[in-house]
Amino acid sequence: MDRLGKALEKMVDVHSRLDVCGVCGGKLIFRGCGEYVCENCSDLVYDDYGKVRRYVETHKNTTISDTAEATGVSQNAIRMMIRERKIRIGL
Ligand SMILES: [Zn+2]
Repeated sequence: MDRLGKALEKMVDVHSRLDVCGVCGGKLIFRGCGEYVCENCSDLVYDDYGKVRRYVETHKNTTISDTAEATGVSQNAIRMMIRERKIRIGL
């Protein structure tokens, strides 16, 4: 992997990892597929990948720009998820 690729990967890692509950400040436990649960109040939280994944699962014929608008996740981040085969968008 080239230097830019590594830098991008690091950036995505930092921004997509969640560890503190936005409701109570409790510790979040990663449950897989971008989903977290708070060990204190059981609130479910989704990171960027989780939000995109949930959206495309319920909107089969969506586009990248619609998904970006609906989830607040940047189109570049969504393209990266598609490239890494984390999600599929029916284009
Ligand atoms: Zn909580």
